[in-house]
Amino acid sequence: MMTAEENLMDWLRDAHAMEEQAEKMLSATADRLKNYPVLKERILAHLDQTRQQGRQVRECIVRRGGSPSTVKDVAARITATAQGLSGMFVADEVVKAALSSYTFEHMEIASYRILIAAAREVGDEATQRTCEAILVEEEAMAAWLLEQLPAITQQFLQRRKADVTAKH
Ligand code: MG
Ligand code: FE
Repeated sequence: MMTAEENLMDWLRDAHAMEEQAEKMLSATADRLKNYPVLKERILAHLDQTRQQGRQVRECIVRRGGSPSTVKDVAARITATAQGLSGMFVADEVVKAALSSYTFEHMEIASYRILIAAAREVGDEATQRTCEAILVEEEAMAAWLLEQLPAITQQFLQRRKADVTAKH
């Protein structure tokens, strides 16, 4: 049976892989967005946060005596999930991107809530604090996206009606 410490390490590695995937998705989305500057700017800001989060989670892994080099298989698994969520190359790409981003942020929120509880259980206050700080950023991004979904949808539909490039 796994110890709580081993579970915590596994979940930290999962979170590290998740942040690597987030970085890829956010960067690809920002690169493709041409006509939605407000969304693009927020995604780029969260991309910076995401890179920092990846480094913070890595520090937790190393501080607990683990190696971040074993993240590859987990990364592959999460890549598959994320690709399934990705709305690229479809006619309503910007709407699908907003949907995927919102969904992804909630996977992150759940992951950090799990990590906070696990860190508390094993008495790792540093990891708990790190995950609490990251959680605030993920919740802020999710809340921003939730608020923007109607405007993004409206802009997409109006641009399409006006026959201008609407998809991204
Ligand atoms: Mg994140
Ligand atoms: Fe995030």
